[in-house]
Amino acid sequence: MDSFHFEGAEIAPGTGQEVSLELGDGPAGNPRSIPVYIIHGTKPGPVLAITAGIHGDELNGVSVAHHLIHGDDHIAGTDDDRIRRDELVGTIICVPVVNIEGMLLEQRGAPDNKDINRLFPGKAQGNQSQRIAYALFQSVVKRADCLIDLHSAPHSRTNLPHVRANFDEKECMELARAFGTQIILHSKGPKGSLRRAATNDGTPTILLEAGTAHRFEMDAVHAGIEGVLNVMGHLGMIEREVRLPAVRLLVRRSKWARAEAGGLLYSRVNVGEHVSKGQEIALVTDPLGEKTHRIESPRTGVIVGLALNPLVRAGDPIANIVLCSKAKWKRAQSDLDGDKPEEESVDDEESLDDA
Ligand SMILES: [Zn+2]
Repeated sequence: MDSFHFEGAEIAPGTGQEVSLELGDGPAGNPRSIPVYIIHGTKPGPVLAITAGIHGDELNGVSVAHHLIHGDDHIAGTDDDRIRRDELVGTIICVPVVNIEGMLLEQRGAPDNKDINRLFPGKAQGNQSQRIAYALFQSVVKRADCLIDLHSAPHSRTNLPHVRANFDEKECMELARAFGTQIILHSKGPKGSLRRAATNDGTPTILLEAGTAHRFEMDAVHAGIEGVLNVMGHLGMIEREVRLPAVRLLVRRSKWARAEAGGLLYSRVNVGEHVSKGQEIALVTDPLGEKTHRIESPRTGVIVGLALNPLVRAGDPIANIVLCSKAKWKRAQSDLDGDKPEEESVDDEESLDDA
């Protein structure tokens, strides 16, 4: 088994090593770089890339990467490591925080306020955000056989952990199914997103949405770790029985319940909760706290995304609801007992576009 060469570093089989992607200097003449951690196995196999923190305020994925690299005690080479380097098949390129400076500024975009995840594949001679996209694309995406990009909702909302994938790309769907969330949402990804650009370039990519921004939420982190390990099991990189839910919803379109009047929002539900059509899911008050409006669920289904910001204006998205019967959602909470999850295709024709 050969060593893995990356950005001038040589990573021996059965070891892990930190490597930097250089980005040029910052305002104080400080060198800027993206830290990358490579775990190189002892047997030839796929190269899986894991990226997090492209949106600098989305931290759950950062924690997923930490746990994959070092295990629960954050010390590599101890008993709780989830990935045994001496038994790994293939190679993992792990990028815990793509947008390091955005993270330090506690913001989604890079210091120029651009969304890096709309600028892929980037430009070598472009603006600072295009250069970050370019460095990641050339050094990581082009080396990887497949990629998992870890995200959370923006700080004003939260998401039930779910995978997003292009249903029309067979390899993306295989990865999405292997990840093992109960809900998979279809989209190609926005123009210039890492997921879309990488998939178009021949590196099938899926995206995890889990929880909200500015937080380490351990439920969301755990869902991410489990999913990545499931994909690794599916790819034959580790020995693992892939854990799948009994029911899986493949969602082409879902519907947002919206506020019809502005005010201060009190949610009555949580993500992952099943609601019936007409059920009160939130109420809106005036500034003194008096109820002025109620928001009803336009659908019977599951809450996949939910507003967290109490300040709402007419038209604001309150809850993203995926059509599903109560009995089916209950079954989706149990683990797989047969060979294959029961699959249901969901296409809510009345849905509007994005939140
Ligand atoms: Zn994001």
